[in-house]
Amino acid sequence: MQANLGFAIYMPYVLLCSAFLIAYFFRQGRVAMISIALFVCYWLIQHTLIGPNVQDLSLIKLSLLAFLLPVACWQIYLFKNETIWHPGFALFLVILVLLIGWAELIVSNPDHLAIQYLMAFLSSTQLSSSPLPGVLTLYIAILTLFAGILVYSHNRLSDVVIYSTLLVAGNAFTRFDVPFISSIMFSVIAVLMMVYLLSTSYKMAFTDPLTQLPARQALEIDLRQLGRKYTLAMLDIDHFKSFNDTYGHDAGDDVLRLIASRLALVKGNGRIYRYGGEEFLIVFKGKNAQQCAPLLQLIREDIATYPLVLRNYAKRPSDNTQGRQYRHVPYKQDCLSLTVSIGISDSFQGDTVTEIQENADKALYRAKKAGRNCIKIYDPTDY
Ligand code: GH3
Ligand code: MG
Ligand code: MG
Repeated sequence: MQANLGFAIYMPYVLLCSAFLIAYFFRQGRVAMISIALFVCYWLIQHTLIGPNVQDLSLIKLSLLAFLLPVACWQIYLFKNETIWHPGFALFLVILVLLIGWAELIVSNPDHLAIQYLMAFLSSTQLSSSPLPGVLTLYIAILTLFAGILVYSHNRLSDVVIYSTLLVAGNAFTRFDVPFISSIMFSVIAVLMMVYLLSTSYKMAFTDPLTQLPARQALEIDLRQLGRKYTLAMLDIDHFKSFNDTYGHDAGDDVLRLIASRLALVKGNGRIYRYGGEEFLIVFKGKNAQQCAPLLQLIREDIATYPLVLRNYAKRPSDNTQGRQYRHVPYKQDCLSLTVSIGISDSFQGDTVTEIQENADKALYRAKKAGRNCIKIYDPTDY
């Protein structure tokens, strides 16, 4: 029994160290910062609030921890998501030490009049249901709500981690009288952090950063699980090189994002991948080429008729001297359109996925030869 209790107490240390290491290897400096703040907070709970050697003043100590943990978490937004070797990380640690020093100063001067007033105020807001003063429960609730709004609007990894930290640690503080609550809650936060870190890294590895579509790596895996009947459509933007040459690479990137968003509208449960460069692959499970062709026609027409509104990238200065000359040029927009060519092949036209993919590529080549802005279904008699 005693051994189990010891295990429970040390669990958060082990888990938080693991979360820190994962954050370090995945270069998620902000999450590494939070794991350190939580480690220190948990250590302070174990050494100043729990156990036989703890003198009283628990109200002020608990209140200080409940007040400072959110501050320590929120301060990560002062820094970029740098590695732990960046000077910003050292600054984070300095601020953490200053916060602890400030708390220590308060705790070591309990007879100071201001601190007496503070304690009286805190206990006046205390409810019988919780050892944490009501004003601090409200403070944590408001900050958790604010973090929730950030998750909803930005959904960055650091937002999700802060939200979970405040929610779970807030629970530990408000139910502090429950045995082992801090060990349980801090273990939960550490596990959540690891899950978030791993799932974010997984998503990053399989998602194309420019278009947010599944990337080639995801395609390679999905192509192994297609079943018996499926169609592959290879789509390529027409004359994209000259578009890039005329309007610049940034405009080209915007167009790739736009085309990705138009492709997402394809009907028939087609799953879209960025195959590479200006090529996309659409996979239709359970459909043959004849069934997919009309769905792809709609998408081709949609893209061809979609008015592209471009900022005046071409006039954007390439250096600072030019920049001064162009500063007062009025903002102008160009409106044009782009087209795509599509090659289709289905699982009845070959034995392996690689073969079907090659067929779709050949059909795409024929679409290009036929003048572009059109769709060709693979026909073996053409070759
Ligand atoms: P075609 O109609 O025969 O397909 O002609 P094309 O010019 O589209 O074909 P080509 O393969 O010669 O050129 C593809 C261009 O796509 C070359 C490259 O500049 C551009 N490209 C590839 N990836 C990206 C990207 O991520 N961003 C931007 N902006 N351009 C890209
Ligand atoms: Mg191409
Ligand atoms: Mg092209």
